[in-house]
Amino acid sequence: MLIGGAIREASVLGYHVSPLFSYYSYHGPVFRVLLRVNRGKPPHGMHYGFICYCDSCGNSQPISWDKLGQMNCPCGTNAPDSLVVCGPLWTGPLHCADYLGEMLSLAGEWGWLGNGMKNDIEKLLNRMINESDPTLSFGYIQLDEIASRAKVNSPPILTIMSAIEQEGYAVSRSHISNNAIKTNCPMAECIRIVKELRQL
Ligand SMILES: [Zn+2]
Repeated sequence: MLIGGAIREASVLGYHVSPLFSYYSYHGPVFRVLLRVNRGKPPHGMHYGFICYCDSCGNSQPISWDKLGQMNCPCGTNAPDSLVVCGPLWTGPLHCADYLGEMLSLAGEWGWLGNGMKNDIEKLLNRMINESDPTLSFGYIQLDEIASRAKVNSPPILTIMSAIEQEGYAVSRSHISNNAIKTNCPMAECIRIVKELRQL
């Protein structure tokens, strides 16, 4: 929403904005966004629109302005109350991997990595670099939500991630929540994968 607001203001003035990094911490909570502003229109179209979440099956999908009137979920739910829309907001990657890579190497030069507490910086930046993969979907999925929809106990996060990867989807951890993943794997598939893992 914050990035979306900046995009809107910038586009009125003839600029486009892309996030270099976006950080959230529940201590506070803290939101920090570093944006790069360029002249003209964005080269790869605008990742700016609405997100539609289906309460019934747990699926999330991006919805453009012109499709707002014809929303439906692939699960075919016929309960209109189960679709929740939010936006308009930024639906593209939250960070620029190259920029984070530079931050990481600077942190290394400054001796911020690799000892005790400071290890957290390395872990955080690496997690954010993985999150910047543009094939991943917006947002994240809590493992508890997958497990409760699948009606099983959640397998370990790394087990789920490697199973999702083996099915050909992109997946990463989320810097926002330790027990969540970012993926382009639809919820229905996540549920199937977790169920299969539990049957092994
Ligand atoms: Zn649905």
